[in-house]
Amino acid sequence: MITAEFDYVAPTSLDDVFRALRSDEDAKLLAGGHSLLPLMKVRLAVPSLLVDLRHVPGLRGIERANGDWRIGPLTRHADLQVRDDLGVLALTAGLIADQQVRNRGTIGGSLAHGDSASDLPTVLVAAEGAVTVRTAAGAEREIAAADLFQDYLTTAVAPDEVITSVRFPALDGWGYAYEKFTRRAEDWAMVGVCALVKRGPDGGCEDVRVALTNMGSTPLRAPAVESALRGGGLDAGAIQAAADQAAEGTDPPADLNASTEYKRHLARVLTRRALERAIN
Ligand SMILES: Cc1cc2nc3c(=O)[nH]c(=O)nc-3n(C[C@H](O)[C@H](O)[C@H](O)COP(=O)(O)OP(=O)(O)OC[C@H]3O[C@@H](n4cnc5c(N)ncnc54)[C@H](O)[C@@H]3O)c2cc1C
Repeated sequence: MITAEFDYVAPTSLDDVFRALRSDEDAKLLAGGHSLLPLMKVRLAVPSLLVDLRHVPGLRGIERANGDWRIGPLTRHADLQVRDDLGVLALTAGLIADQQVRNRGTIGGSLAHGDSASDLPTVLVAAEGAVTVRTAAGAEREIAAADLFQDYLTTAVAPDEVITSVRFPALDGWGYAYEKFTRRAEDWAMVGVCALVKRGPDGGCEDVRVALTNMGSTPLRAPAVESALRGGGLDAGAIQAAADQAAEGTDPPADLNASTEYKRHLARVLTRRALERAIN
């Protein structure tokens, strides 16, 4: 299918981006286009103006400051996947779709789009990161990952706001894993699990975070798994017992690929695998 007609501008400053957004209430920001354009082709999104962010300076790049990574929203999945020092973020970016998608898709676009089957939102939730948005009035506010994802394709970023930075805690010393189950290679996650584990001096579990992809309308933490492990041992029995609780409190809708019960089964299996990888 082809899109409805639309206008296109490519501003070279954030001020001009906001001017363009103000000029048309049906305007939409464009980053890599790999989520928005497919929606436009099936007319689930019908913006009358696309405001391309790609020529705005200062919106891409990766820097480290005060224990956090600061990542520009236009930084592509392909830029993240080659940065081993980013840990779980690099690992997960490399598991998104195929190289063609990773060469265009951006971290800011993925987080703003808020698809619960996407991988990076889950990792941001597990890492307790945040995004900074600039408002139309020129102010800035930080939105914690826990508050960012509100419902299917719905985030706390207002239509006239722009994500200008992503804050991702560096998580030095934490083990990590992202397990993703797909029907075909390079597909969307049927279910995904991000596990982050900090071991104490005795080798036990000092802290742990587990978050789930595609188990609800937003990425979800798995609090029962976390409390089962935190402060205890990390032997195979403890991990199995904790992972068995991964689907607690979730009610994922069935889709073409998996029933609700199968997704809950996958969450348990993938959580065990992710925890095992994260501690090795
Ligand atoms: C075939 C295919 C397979 C895919 N498989 C996966 C997968 O397995 N896992 C996965 O996670 N993703 C997958 N994706 C999605 C891909 O990662 C997208 O590129 C990404 O989700 C959106 O990034 P984008 O830069 O393309 O955003 P765009 O499509 O340009 O924009 C998406 C939304 O974000 C808004 N937006 C963009 N930038 C900003 C900003 N700075 N501030 C505020 N709002 C902004 C736009 O207005 C739009 O509403 C797939 C895509 C395709 C086409």
